[in-house]
Amino acid sequence: MTRDPNSKGEGVVEKTADSGGDAGRFDFSGERESQHEQAFYEGVKERFAKERDRRLEFRPEGTAQYTSALEGELAQYEIDPHARELVPREPLEDTVEVLFIGGGFSALLTSARLREKGVESIRIVERGADVGGTWYWNRYPGVACDVVSYDYLPLLDEMGYVPRDQYAKGPEIYEHCQRIAQRYNLYDLAVFQTTVTSTIWREDEQQWEVCTDRGDQMRARFVVCANGTLSKPKLPRIEGLEGYAGHSFHTSRWDYEYTGSDLSGLRDKTVGVIGTGASAVQIVPKVAKMAKDLFVFQRTPSSVDLKDDRPTDPEWAAALEEGWQGKRREAGLQSGERTLEQRERLAELSREERIRRQENANIEYVMRIHRHIEETVEDPQTAEALKPWYMFMCKRPCFDNDYLPAFNQENVHLVDTQGEGVTEIGTAGPVFEGQVYPVDLLVFATGFEVQKTGIYNRIIGRGGVDLEDKYSDGMRTLVGIHSRGYPNLFIMGGYQISTLFNLTDVFQVQGDHIANCIDYVRRTGCRSLEAGEDAEEWWVQQVIENRGKTSRNADCTPGYYNFEGETQRRQDGNYNGTFRQYISHVNDVFEHIEERFEFAEQRAAE
Ligand code: NDP
Repeated sequence: MTRDPNSKGEGVVEKTADSGGDAGRFDFSGERESQHEQAFYEGVKERFAKERDRRLEFRPEGTAQYTSALEGELAQYEIDPHARELVPREPLEDTVEVLFIGGGFSALLTSARLREKGVESIRIVERGADVGGTWYWNRYPGVACDVVSYDYLPLLDEMGYVPRDQYAKGPEIYEHCQRIAQRYNLYDLAVFQTTVTSTIWREDEQQWEVCTDRGDQMRARFVVCANGTLSKPKLPRIEGLEGYAGHSFHTSRWDYEYTGSDLSGLRDKTVGVIGTGASAVQIVPKVAKMAKDLFVFQRTPSSVDLKDDRPTDPEWAAALEEGWQGKRREAGLQSGERTLEQRERLAELSREERIRRQENANIEYVMRIHRHIEETVEDPQTAEALKPWYMFMCKRPCFDNDYLPAFNQENVHLVDTQGEGVTEIGTAGPVFEGQVYPVDLLVFATGFEVQKTGIYNRIIGRGGVDLEDKYSDGMRTLVGIHSRGYPNLFIMGGYQISTLFNLTDVFQVQGDHIANCIDYVRRTGCRSLEAGEDAEEWWVQQVIENRGKTSRNADCTPGYYNFEGETQRRQDGNYNGTFRQYISHVNDVFEHIEERFEFAEQRAAE
């Protein structure tokens, strides 16, 4: 669930229905007058800048500070703890109509739409041993979603399912994925424990050749890159990491054989957690309850707000009418829009005044988070260290009621590295400022590589052009889904799109569009569709025009939202118009499909 902090044109987050937790009730629109003298906000902004600079001085190397090449001695960090043995099978050399690379929500909901349109031959090729994507891999204790379940879980109308809680827990979401796959017969042709290594366009055949690490050489008429936005675990390049002698794993590969399914295996263990992002925030309270001692190694604190979770009201669920989720989604989109009166009021303000008020409202929200920390965490020094000093949404906000109170437990110790991070790991455990912290278990809560379309996979299009090479001069797509030179290939997630806190909304829009395009090609009897040159150029310009209206991205403390502080080309990021604008562009592209695309081997009838 990522969101570019600049995704709103003005560069400051606005109130949306899906901001998660209490943040959704906060007004970031700029309508409200600021509560303090301007000097107060300027002082806070100075502190924000100081903290960002400190963090950047320690790690000027940007994304290169991490590695996701988990090979050799690091290979253990990618082993699937849920299916350690490979299920043997013969390599495949068959042909399917639609092939999905990845079996998470994006693939599942697009497949459902394709089934509705009568597409029978659908194959999911998935690295895990089942469908589910992020919910297959992430099974760490406490795993849950921060987006309201009735919005986040897709296909609730179609599946006749109402989630059990306001915020669904990981196991329920994973089961939902499995049920979708069963309901739409997606297991029939699926292949698991299989990584696509190359996807090559065969012009003479007008189809894709898809090769895998299991020796497969499949053919597919349409390929959908549904490989997720944050799917490849990454580790910080810390000196001595390979030499650590205790047990260790990445959060997305939780080893219950070691910890016990109820974590009782940790009772006599000292545990270290490196990182304090959304995964760590959920894990820490659970481990704190069971471990003998827990050391949390923090580089930058997360903003942690309350999560208003509760079981689903059975009466409410029983009264839901057919199509309720679709209506709810539409209503959510409408409510995110400003009313005419609001627009008029805002139009009376100068752009500078609007931005000033938005920033001030953002700072007020951060100060509220600070007060909550002071009220919750008993030790004043620990409370101070847990305070985030950056604008809300600079980093992915977290929502959890148990994270902050965990630091009141005697067995929980915060190691505040004040922006530096753990720089060395000895055989016994992490080292900071010359002190060794011996741990039996070291958990890397250090996140994921941000999606590349060809993660694990080389995509070679028309004329033998590698997609990476095409993008090396700047990303070029049509609505983030199509790229010229790659006929019948569709990208989900990815860049040059509008992102929301609720990623499944984005996938739904893209999935509907992809299903429509595939249906069009099938119905009209042409072999393939490919983004037209002008259409692609139009979209690249849209992305450029709508990006970077403020310096907010650069002003943010580093993290994966802003490429760890690296400078990016204007086109190598997201489209920062509103989500509704993105939807209307996507719809417009389909409505004008004849003009926006080129079609190979024109209709059989012509
Ligand atoms: P993140 O990338 O958000 O966090 C990585 C953490 O590792 C950061 O705190 C980072 O610090 C820290 N780190 C990196 N290097 C070091 C070092 N050398 N020493 C100490 N700390 C270090 O990863 P997560 O897995 O937490 O989250 C990834 C994303 O997955 C989330 O942002 C969210 O989109 C999604 N997610 C959603 C959940 C939900 O819905 N509840 C739950 C979990 C994940 P720094 O901040 O300084 O870079």
